[in-house]
Amino acid sequence: MIGLADSYHRRINYMRISVTDRCDLDCIYCSGRSAPHLSHDDILRYEEILRVVQAAAHLGVQKVRLTGGEPLARLHLSRLVEMLVRVEGIDEVSMTTNGTLLAHHAAELKAAGLKRVNVSLDTLKADRFQQITRGDKLRDVLNGIEVAREVGLNPVKLNMVALRDVNDDEILDFARKTVADGWHVRFIECMPFVSSTAEDNGVVATSEIISTIEQSLGKLIPCFPSSGNGPARYYQLPEATGTLGFIGAVTECFCTECNRFRLTADGGLRPCLLDDDEIDLKGPLRRGATIEELEQLILQAATLKQEQHHLAEEVVPAKRQMRQIGG
Ligand code: SAM
Repeated sequence: MIGLADSYHRRINYMRISVTDRCDLDCIYCSGRSAPHLSHDDILRYEEILRVVQAAAHLGVQKVRLTGGEPLARLHLSRLVEMLVRVEGIDEVSMTTNGTLLAHHAAELKAAGLKRVNVSLDTLKADRFQQITRGDKLRDVLNGIEVAREVGLNPVKLNMVALRDVNDDEILDFARKTVADGWHVRFIECMPFVSSTAEDNGVVATSEIISTIEQSLGKLIPCFPSSGNGPARYYQLPEATGTLGFIGAVTECFCTECNRFRLTADGGLRPCLLDDDEIDLKGPLRRGATIEELEQLILQAATLKQEQHHLAEEVVPAKRQMRQIGG
């Protein structure tokens, strides 16, 4: 293992891999309906993803997260998990999912070596779920969460994107779940993307969410879960077994701690979620690039990693939607 760092001396040890740009839901803040889908041939094959991970692991990447689109929309995902957990240097493969198919796949994913899952869940109300996701699958998602917990994909973290006047009245309901059911809930600020229909609603800031919770449920106690190696700050309510995480992607710039790359489903290596710079890996992969050549491209991507995002200057990703990058 060599040790990968960017120009600002940030160590990069984490790669989020989008395995498809397709999703069975169509969340108002995520998908950007207008964007076309990739063709089958444009999407990296599992063997190609494996080669990228082998090169990245040799440079120091230790953790991989599968995402999408909806990762479980890709056939035989557990086969990819099996391939990635065997890569020397990779010590954790996890997944972010919308949960609709999780109940069916949780056991086989666990058996394949998946460590844990994050499930996106923005509401506990069926009609609202339909409004936000344009799908009638809340029951499937809740079921998926339970099955994932039962088979041991723990801690199952629930990602809630708070949207003003859409679901922000459920912040306390989610917070109470950390006490009543031991849920691990993370509140994520909605990031602006071109053509996202949720932007007009305005960001519900982390500071506002915290004060809403503290006013009704008591002072939050900082905590440091061992699985919390990303940008979230974690707290607990008194007597909670679950945790509350806050990802202030818009109002709290945490770029100084950024440790990741993103690989898009069509092989774009993206140094930053919120910047359009990418290095194409699919072309070189299909021309037979060696692992060493892939490593050089990954090192080149590290030099492109900017010091921080530019949301404050209203520079937002213009070329891809979240669904096409992987969140
Ligand atoms: N389909 C999977 C899912 O729903 O979790 C994985 C892909 S989704 C793009 C990954 C995460 O990004 C989800 O938790 C989703 O809520 C979040 N997300 C999508 N668009 C976002 C936005 N504009 N701002 C903040 N988070 C967003």
